[in-house]
Amino acid sequence: MNLNIRGNNKMIVMKFGGSSVANAERIKHVAEIIKMNLDEEPVIVVSAMGKTTDNLLAAADAALKGKPNIDAIKELHFQACKDLGISKKEVEDLIQELSQLLVGIVLIKEVSLRTKDYLISFGERLSVRVLSAYLDKIGISSKYHDAFDIGFITDSNFTNAGILDETYKNIDNKLGKLKDNYSYTPVITGFIAKDKDGNITTLGRGGSDLTASVIGTALEAKEVQVWKDVDGILTTDPRIVENTKSLEAVSFEEAAELAYFGAKVLHPRSMLPAMKKNIPVRVKNSYNPKHPGTKIVAKLEDEDTLLKAITIKKNITLVDIVSTRMLGQYGFLAKVFDIFNKERISVDMVATSEVSVSLTLDNGNGLSDLREKLEEIANVNIKKGKTIISLIGNVHHSSEILNKACGVLKNNNINVQMISQGASKVNIGFIVDDDEAEICVKELHKSFFEGTEKFKKISGSSS
Ligand code: ASP
Ligand code: MG
Repeated sequence: MNLNIRGNNKMIVMKFGGSSVANAERIKHVAEIIKMNLDEEPVIVVSAMGKTTDNLLAAADAALKGKPNIDAIKELHFQACKDLGISKKEVEDLIQELSQLLVGIVLIKEVSLRTKDYLISFGERLSVRVLSAYLDKIGISSKYHDAFDIGFITDSNFTNAGILDETYKNIDNKLGKLKDNYSYTPVITGFIAKDKDGNITTLGRGGSDLTASVIGTALEAKEVQVWKDVDGILTTDPRIVENTKSLEAVSFEEAAELAYFGAKVLHPRSMLPAMKKNIPVRVKNSYNPKHPGTKIVAKLEDEDTLLKAITIKKNITLVDIVSTRMLGQYGFLAKVFDIFNKERISVDMVATSEVSVSLTLDNGNGLSDLREKLEEIANVNIKKGKTIISLIGNVHHSSEILNKACGVLKNNNINVQMISQGASKVNIGFIVDDDEAEICVKELHKSFFEGTEKFKKISGSSS
């Protein structure tokens, strides 16, 4: 079943992150990839070059201390223009504006969130100008657009702004005509937008993926491609297991679980627009462009793969809460979660019995208030240094997965401290100690993946 028949729109969106455009050499490489895909009428989205966003934030801090310094940013962009053989005029103008802003910060000695967004918007505004000029230079007719000029409108929640619905219509009005007549390759700033009052806003760190997914959705693109530096989504963390493979396809649901539980994939929030409209998202490798990568789709064809991936999230805090009343008292859980809510602490995994609840937190710092409040209704035990190992797998085989996983853990003398199966049932999570995590992942990967025929089949080779 193909959920994605949409006339003959062949347009794709290609998003390149900061490291893909970190310098002239990487930009040339990206231009090559774009050239290879011109038949698919790509709309390009880019992040700021390399560490520019971080450098801009550092420049603001320095300016607050009276020492504005944008040498690194200037040098990086000027050098890129030089190495690419393009004019630096527009880059210079923006750098000029940026310097003035920093002088302003020195004078008023403060940076509001609104100013911060204005400041970090320079990263993406610079990078699109560089890439677009270079594409033009090598004969790929191109124009750059600041996202707000093609209709990206958000609320005024600076540094983490929410996209307003009218954005979709706006983008279609501005760029939709390229579908009939692909007269140039647009290069669009990721990450930035404007609010209704015309202030520049940003979509949260890593927000360029969201930009790409919004554009893909607005234009009903054939596919949104997010270019990274691995062959798509891997069976597990390649820093722990040598023999990983990339997955051919995962569902949006699986991808979201993967992201929440530590895999380096897209932020689930950034996939939402595409998911709603059934636009496939593909994670591709800019170092290995021929590799198909991993496709993320709304619904997978029936498949019989037992397990898709194993993720690992270290440095987690486990909180055990046992009701002091020792019975399933009405409202106990509600009270517990109310306390977390009031303390504004977000919870990852939860397992409950009638009188106790165990849950995990990302951040184990500053929990004394939480402990105090919880201790009014329960005995509380807070343990740091834990790891969540998540098995993302087939809904229909959860017992088989559990059985196999428990066998592996038992054979390795690992004492599991909590187990939970998410409501979506694509995720089974185990808590173990941090220092047991790597061996667990290695052994689980070996047992579920390595050596099986299916494993050899699920992907090409991952380099
Ligand atoms: N440049 C922004 C950041 O570093 C946005 C992005 O890269 O997606 O967070
Ligand atoms: Mg970036």
